Amino acid sequence: MKVLVINCGSSSLKYQVLDMTDESLLAKGLVERIGMEGSVINHTKEGEAKVVNVVPMNDHKDAIAQVLNALQDPNHGVITDMAEIGAVGHRVVHAGEKFAESALITESVLEALEECVEIAPLHNPPNLLGIAACRELMPETPMVAVFDTAFHQTMPPESYIYAIPYEYYEKYKIRRYGFHGTSHKYVAERAADMMGKPLDTLKLITCHLGNGASVTAIKNGKVVDTSMGFTPLEGLVMGTRSGDIDPAIVTYIREKENLAPGEANNILNKKSGVLGVSGVSSDFRDIEAAVEKGNERAALALRMFSHKVKFYIGAYIAELNGVDGIVFTAGVGENDIGMREIICDDMENLGINLDPVANKVRGQETIISSDDSKVKIMLIPTNEELMIARDTFEIAKKVNA
Ligand code: ADP
Repeated sequence: MKVLVINCGSSSLKYQVLDMTDESLLAKGLVERIGMEGSVINHTKEGEAKVVNVVPMNDHKDAIAQVLNALQDPNHGVITDMAEIGAVGHRVVHAGEKFAESALITESVLEALEECVEIAPLHNPPNLLGIAACRELMPETPMVAVFDTAFHQTMPPESYIYAIPYEYYEKYKIRRYGFHGTSHKYVAERAADMMGKPLDTLKLITCHLGNGASVTAIKNGKVVDTSMGFTPLEGLVMGTRSGDIDPAIVTYIREKENLAPGEANNILNKKSGVLGVSGVSSDFRDIEAAVEKGNERAALALRMFSHKVKFYIGAYIAELNGVDGIVFTAGVGENDIGMREIICDDMENLGINLDPVANKVRGQETIISSDDSKVKIMLIPTNEELMIARDTFEIAKKVNA
């Protein structure tokens, strides 16, 4: 079965087609500027050069139609008939407390996801637009939703309830949900394979360090804690997000700066993090270049980032009563050799010893701890699309059976 994976943002859409007989990637692409001037589709058939096509796309339905065209194109397509796509897997950011696993998309699932729009106003609406467009264009094809929050649903209440009046949890479902779940789950499974031990016997800490970043504590295959919260704003210092701050700062700045409603949220989400501290960029490559030129605030931003990752690793080691493996993944985790070095530095008393030579790799699945390190440190490139395709394939098989 071939599975189409869709990850729909407000003005962009990423897609992949995988052949699930051997989990091989057949094609991938990115649609940008949906509903804007100059909308464009970048399509790559595996092993061939990228094809760029600027074509008007007014909405997500136009975008999906272009994706389906590209997939059937006689030159760079990978299918000859739409029926070859056995199922579509959609990334959905927020499923609230409703789903702990991926789900076949039905009317009632869609209703449940609509209800989550209130707590995920930025992320869920474009995901739902993508689903609606696909359902219209491929009405006979089974669709599956794979949720960023699902893997974290095993957290115990002491991890997910906030110490605010309990009625806000009951009335508004304000609690920690956690995000990047598909990525944390994928790397945890790979880590168990690399360690040659069953996942349900391991204590793992997975560090997804990209533009958005989160750390998760996993015991015997189940999440016990994660750094992101009610929204993806909590936890680590990120590219543009503040992570944990004293909530009183928000009211204080709002009064001092006379901010319009919503502006504080915008500042904390878009203008903070390593961008806000360095004043340079949210991209670690730019910040590191600035550090080379002697920019002290850029250096401070990097130290703050690594400090917070270390802080969570320490907290989770205490929560787990030890750790067998630590995983680094996503843009920074996979590529930033120096950042992995600073994070793991000075933790030998916890049995954490990075091998500086083994660590000199990028984007490649490998063990980067020294042979005598009690804790295995691993670099594992994430593959959320493969995870989505796997769940989609498993669920669609049952529909077709
Ligand atoms: P997203 O959260 O957008 O999916 P990614 O996981 O793709 O983010 O991570 C993107 C970030 O990874 C970039 O903003 C950059 O900071 C970082 N990054 C990518 N390559 C490198 C590199 N070679 N060195 C340092 N940082 C890198």
